[in-house]
Amino acid sequence: MALTGLDIYKLLPKTNCKKCGRPTCLAFAMQLAQKKASLSDCPDVSEEAKNVLGAASAPPIKLVTVGTDAKKVEIGEENVLFRHEEKFYHPTGVAVTIQDDLDDAAFQGRLKKINELKMTRVGTEIEIDLVAVINKSNNAEKFAEAAKKVCSDSHLSIILSSTSVENMKAALANCAEKRPLIHGANPENYESMAALAKEKNCPMTITAPTLEELADLTEHIKKAGVEEIILDVSGDNPKEVLQKLTKVRRAALKKNFRALGFPMITFVHEDDSFLEIALASTYLVKYAGIVVVDNCEPWGIMPLLTARTNIFTDPQKPIQVEPKLYAVGDVKEDSPVLFTTNFSLTYYSVEGEVEGSRIPAYILSVDTGGTSVLTAYSGDKLNDKVVAKAIADAGVEAKVKHRKLIIPGLVAVMSGKLQETLGWEVLVGPREASGIPSYLKTVWKS
Ligand code: SF4
Repeated sequence: MALTGLDIYKLLPKTNCKKCGRPTCLAFAMQLAQKKASLSDCPDVSEEAKNVLGAASAPPIKLVTVGTDAKKVEIGEENVLFRHEEKFYHPTGVAVTIQDDLDDAAFQGRLKKINELKMTRVGTEIEIDLVAVINKSNNAEKFAEAAKKVCSDSHLSIILSSTSVENMKAALANCAEKRPLIHGANPENYESMAALAKEKNCPMTITAPTLEELADLTEHIKKAGVEEIILDVSGDNPKEVLQKLTKVRRAALKKNFRALGFPMITFVHEDDSFLEIALASTYLVKYAGIVVVDNCEPWGIMPLLTARTNIFTDPQKPIQVEPKLYAVGDVKEDSPVLFTTNFSLTYYSVEGEVEGSRIPAYILSVDTGGTSVLTAYSGDKLNDKVVAKAIADAGVEAKVKHRKLIIPGLVAVMSGKLQETLGWEVLVGPREASGIPSYLKTVWKS
């Protein structure tokens, strides 16, 4: 069980010296219990307390790193079951499979397609993280060759998947420097796989029929000297997979059960590509650290990456764009000026529609703390004075010769007051961003 704040307090020096940046030892103990402080912040803690508290204050779910450099994938170290309680920290890694029995042209073609699985969403480029090399041939040479090609021709991190220790050894000889994830350890081969993982300093997965056996195996693997373990909870029965994902997360967080305190991976194989992506999205949300799919079509990967982007943002911090004047297209001094708020989703919806209209325009993103138009208006973060100040701060008057401002239709109610404060003609635009192209082509052009 996790130590309480009072348990921790009993082990601290109790001098209230404030060197840790907290007013009292009790305040520090409470923050340590909530994992909002690090034991190293107290310079006077005794060795005995360090031993007890060090182990107890370790994250309930181990951080595991696959790969190296910029594209390394870090998973684990999550503190909560539900995102609204705090936030999720390490985004689920998305992996796509490639089989080692493909002929050279097919292999290169699929790898190229996998490498290009990236897209832009709300102004940010998002992409998959890993290539899972599957030893479908069950041949060591082919597996090693496939690993070599992925190592040299892909910027993504690697998963090597084989239950054969010999084949795994051959593949690792060609790509161990990229610190791939060794996938394929089970109750029969885990000792040899763990020895390989230790020798090559790579993370490894482990699977077992039941969670009890899985917990037992992680203890053995740790004793063999491998710390970075990922639990494989793949399966054909979605209900069972989801139950396992949830039970493991609960055991780690609520019971502080260290033997299951590791991130999880799940492979999803479905003939129906839509079902495959639907299941992968479900596991991504609850609580897979890595999901592996066969589908390498952009239409399939996009919803997965979108779900990940949505889940792994801080629910208490709206996603914002910089509040400023944006020029969309080849703007001139007679180009229209629209305003919206600096909530990313709102801004990029407006920007997309302006772009689609092919009428160059200025968009003024008004600082409302990242809230949407109606939320900002009802909270008085968006009013005539705020907009007038944003116009002045962005120097809009020097950019256009007209004095017309298009405002969101949702806040038509502020048009009169804004016109008075700003001294510009205020035009009420459409209520939805989708109405912008026809508005610019008809109302503005006329
Ligand atoms: S630095 Fe240590 S002894 Fe000093 S107040 Fe903080 S917890 Fe207490």
